[in-house]
Amino acid sequence: MSRYCTKCGAINDDTAQYCTNCQASLANSVSTGYQPMQSVNPGAVTDWKAMGADKKITAGICAILVGWLGVHKFILGYTTEGVIQLVLGILTCGLTNILSIVEGVIYLTKSDEEFVRTYIQNKKGWF
Ligand SMILES: [Zn+2]
Repeated sequence: MSRYCTKCGAINDDTAQYCTNCQASLANSVSTGYQPMQSVNPGAVTDWKAMGADKKITAGICAILVGWLGVHKFILGYTTEGVIQLVLGILTCGLTNILSIVEGVIYLTKSDEEFVRTYIQNKKGWF
């Protein structure tokens, strides 16, 4: 057991009479419950990269360079949208690449969290 200084929150030995940090008397301090330094568990931080944010750069660059092929759609798992984009791209001789460049820029300007929420979790197929 350790006791927390009620004045500064420092953790002191259970037998300590005075806080090692601020020298306040620990006579009235409580040894349970009070944990001012409780921080967020690092393990609970969401790993956006592992959830698909690592595809952001690849998908964004593919969309900008060869967007009419629909490669970025396939990368994100949007098979239907990818096929549509490829067919449209062939029919329009790559004119749909203009739209893909916009998509690519949107991908690249999103934060990892936004990207995962929008394209991995919500499966937003277009833009
Ligand atoms: Zn203290």
